[in-house]
Amino acid sequence: MKRIMVTGGAGFLGSHLCERLLNEGNEVICLDNFYTGRKENVVHLMSDHFFEILRHDVCFPIYVEVDEIYNLACPASPVHYQFDPVQTTKTSVHGAINMLGLAKRLKIKILQASTSEVYGDPNIHPQPESYWGNVNPIGIRACYDEGKRCAETLFFDYNRQHNLNIKVARIFNTYGPRMLKNDGRVVSNFIVQALKGDNITVYGTGNQTRSFCYVDDLVDGFIRLMNSPDGFTGPVNLGNPGEFTILELAKKIIQLTGSKSKIAYKPLPPDDPTQRQPDISIAKKVLNWEPAIPLEEGLVKTIAFFESLLNQ
Ligand code: NAD
Ligand code: UDP
Ligand code: UDP
Repeated sequence: MKRIMVTGGAGFLGSHLCERLLNEGNEVICLDNFYTGRKENVVHLMSDHFFEILRHDVCFPIYVEVDEIYNLACPASPVHYQFDPVQTTKTSVHGAINMLGLAKRLKIKILQASTSEVYGDPNIHPQPESYWGNVNPIGIRACYDEGKRCAETLFFDYNRQHNLNIKVARIFNTYGPRMLKNDGRVVSNFIVQALKGDNITVYGTGNQTRSFCYVDDLVDGFIRLMNSPDGFTGPVNLGNPGEFTILELAKKIIQLTGSKSKIAYKPLPPDDPTQRQPDISIAKKVLNWEPAIPLEEGLVKTIAFFESLLNQ
């Protein structure tokens, strides 16, 4: 039995990952400071004797004994990561240093939840891992984008300098049950608005694109990456190559919910990337992974989650 630590384990992706790792027979330590994570996300796991919660901020050192680390701690929604941007950079950078120091002391594998944001507003489409990106270093998204880029630098330097076994995943927009209803990200915003009959807030023209991956597929990719051959570090893109405009997404959600909501156009936030689509050739080849759940199927499951949440 392995003891696996998931930082950010009470968040959206982290809670699904903790659940899957427990189901596969591991002992799981969920480390979280509950900034955007919630106890409700993991309360159903608490009766499992092999599940443990540690309230801790990754910006501070921690001494525990574990066999593997998945480092997910970091707010992911622009609304939340821009609320306290200095803390966002600290979480990515100081958090990475502490988790890497822990992994180095224990000589264990560590996986970093990086992001498609390292590509910024990409001028290569779709984005392969070899693309270095187009990031504004002083814009309002930089606390997240540059924090994550610096974390990648640290991971690769610990690998080169200390021979640490690292795995870096670049995650593209992922959605599903347990996103916060006030999360601010597009899928949860649109579903909540549609279910309440409020206006659907499309920023800009809605012609910008994103590629949406359902959470179960992503978690499967995480685990395959952690278990990939030693020496395979990534970075590897994990995401669903199906690309949609934000307007298409809004219309699909209106249709699936049968909502009477209307679309209301709002200003486009600065530095909002115009297009995003993962090239997943490496994940297919090395991890034998590709997403199985199409957008419509994932949206139906996510809508059901928000419906029951709003009816509580
Ligand atoms: P989330 O906000 O639901 O989860 C982040 C978790 O980290 C929360 O539980 C939060 O409380 C915790 N956290 C934040 N700061 C912390 C700190 N200093 N110490 C300890 N815990 C802290 O977001 P998510 O969508 O689950 O994202 C998880 C990870 O995946 C993040 O690192 C994010 O950058 C990355 N990611 C997610 C997506 C996506 O589309 N969901 C895309 C790219 C990358
Ligand atoms: N660290 C930690 N837990 C450990 C080992 C290290 O939190 O079990 C932290 C420690 O605070 C240190 C950081 O990780 O500052 C980086 O560790 P490393 O060994 O790379 O560097 P150093 O200790 O020399 O600063
Ligand atoms: N967006 C939108 N309305 C919303 C929330 C987001 O039109 O209520 C747009 C946003 O401008 C961006 C896309 O949807 O172009 C994805 O935004 P999100 O915050 O989910 O993630 P990002 O990929 O930008 O980090």
